[in-house]
Amino acid sequence: MRIAIVGSGPSGFYAAQSLLASHPTARIDLLERLPTPYGLVRGGVAPDHQKIKRVVKTYAKTAADPRVRWFGNIELGRDVTIDELLARYDQVVLAVGAQSARKLGIPGEDLRGVFTATEFVAWYNAHPQFQDRAFPLHVKDVVVVGVGNVAMDVARILLASRSHLAGTDITAAALDDLTDGKRTRVHVLGRRGPAQAAFTPKELREIAELEGVDVRTRANEVELDPLSAAWLAEHGTKADHDNVAFVKECAGAREERESGEMWLRFCTQPVEILGEEGKVAGVRVERTEIIERNGGLSARGTGETEVLPAGLVLEAVGYRMIALPGVPFDAKRGVVPHVDGAVIDGESRVPDLFVVGWAKRGPSGLIGTNKGDSAATVATMLELGVVRPAEGPDPEGWLLERQPMLVRWEDWERLDELERVRGAEVGKVREKFTSVQQMLAEIDCLDPNCDEVR
Ligand SMILES: Cc1cc2nc3c(=O)[nH]c(=O)nc-3n(C[C@H](O)[C@H](O)[C@H](O)COP(=O)(O)OP(=O)(O)OC[C@H]3O[C@@H](n4cnc5c(N)ncnc54)[C@H](O)[C@@H]3O)c2cc1C
Repeated sequence: MRIAIVGSGPSGFYAAQSLLASHPTARIDLLERLPTPYGLVRGGVAPDHQKIKRVVKTYAKTAADPRVRWFGNIELGRDVTIDELLARYDQVVLAVGAQSARKLGIPGEDLRGVFTATEFVAWYNAHPQFQDRAFPLHVKDVVVVGVGNVAMDVARILLASRSHLAGTDITAAALDDLTDGKRTRVHVLGRRGPAQAAFTPKELREIAELEGVDVRTRANEVELDPLSAAWLAEHGTKADHDNVAFVKECAGAREERESGEMWLRFCTQPVEILGEEGKVAGVRVERTEIIERNGGLSARGTGETEVLPAGLVLEAVGYRMIALPGVPFDAKRGVVPHVDGAVIDGESRVPDLFVVGWAKRGPSGLIGTNKGDSAATVATMLELGVVRPAEGPDPEGWLLERQPMLVRWEDWERLDELERVRGAEVGKVREKFTSVQQMLAEIDCLDPNCDEVR
C-alpha cells in the first residue's frame, strides 16, 4: 500500500503518523515543494516563539521511520500532476496548507507600501519565494489590519528591539531592516469590538511586555456596547473576558514612548488606502457599530471617518489556499471540497484523493488542531479503502526523472545542521538559507547529474 502525502507541514506529518499507527503495511512518500520541511512551523510561527517550534522533533522522528520517505523540491502542479500521482499511489493526501492571502478589496491596495501579513511573515522567516519584497520599514506609522494572532505576531515583530530578536532564527536581513528604523507606532485595526477579537490574551500580553513598548486603546472603543456585553456574559470564554479586561486597562492618556507603541483600535474599519506619488501615506478608517446579523454580531459602518498616517500597511485578514491544477477547489471558502476528508468534485467523490489541514478546514486552528483533523481523514481513508490500486513500479525513479534535483531527508538534515552552525557563529538559534539555489548548492544537488552520484 503506497500513499503520497503532498505537503510536509503539521497536517502532512500528523497524517503520516496516524497512517503509520493504524496501517502497519503502509509505505508513505511525503512530497514537499521546498527543499525544507515543516510548512508554517518553519515559515509562519514567529522567530521569537522558539518553544513552539520544538514540535518538529516529533515530525523528524516520523521522517526517520523506515516506512517513510521525504522528498523535497518537488511540487504538485509544477513537476507532477494529480492524475499522475493517483496513478502511481494507492491513495493521495493533500496537505498543502494555505499559501496565499485574503485581500481587503478596498481602493488603494495597489499602492507601494501595501502588503499582506502573509508576505511579511514569510519574508522574516526566510521563505525563498518572498525574499525580494522591499518593505518600507523606516517609517513612523504602520497600519496592521486585523486582530487575530497573525496581526499580533507582526505587530510584535515590528515593535521588538534588536536584543529581543537577535538570538532567534529571524533572517539576518530582516533583523537589520527591522531594528534600525525609526518606526514607533503600530495601529492595529479591528472591525468589531474587543469581545470579538480573535487574538489570545497571551499574544497581547507579550506585546505589552516588550521593553519600551506600550499597548494603548481608546476608552470609547473598548467600552462594550449592550449587544457585546450580553454576548460576553452569556457565551464569552475566559480568553474573551481576559482580552476585554486587558484592553480596558490600556485605555487612557499616557506619555508617548520613545521606542514604540501599539494602538489597538476597535470598531474601526479601513475604507480606503491613501497615497502620495504612488506610495501609501495613510488609511481612511470608518467607525463601526455592532449589530445583530444572521444570529451573530457583526460590524456596520457609521459614516464617521478619520485618516491614520501610514508609511506601511499590512493586511492580516487571513490566509487562503491557491487552487491546484486538476484538484477540485471551493473558490468561496478557499479550500478543497470534501466529505470527512474525502475530496469531492460536485456531488461525486474523487477516488483515492483526501485532504487534511488548512487546505481542508481553511486557515484556522493551532498546530495541535491538525493532529485530530488529520487522524479523522485517515479514519476515512481506512474506511473507504482503495478504489483504484496503483500501477507500476516504486515511483521514486519517476519522481527523480521529473525533478533531478530532488532533495532527500539526509540532505535536509545537512541543511539543518549547516543552519545551526551558521547561527551559532553569530549567537542565533540558526541562520536560515533564504534561496533554493543556495540550499541546492550546499547539498551538491545543483549538478544536473546528481541523480547518478546518489
Ligand atoms: C503567521 C502564523 C503564525 C502561526 N503561529 C502559530 C503558533 O505560534 N502556534 C500554533 O500552534 N500555530 C500557529 N500557527 C498555525 C499553524 O502554523 C497551522 O495550524 C499549521 O501550520 C497548518 O498546517 P498545514 O500542514 O495545513 O499547512 P502548512 O503548515 O502551510 O504546510 C503546508 C506545506 O505544503 C507545502 N506545499 C504547498 N503546496 C505544495 C505543492 N503544490 N506541492 C508540494 N508541497 C506543497 C508547503 O510548502 C508547506 O510545507 C501560525 C500560523 C501562521 C500563518
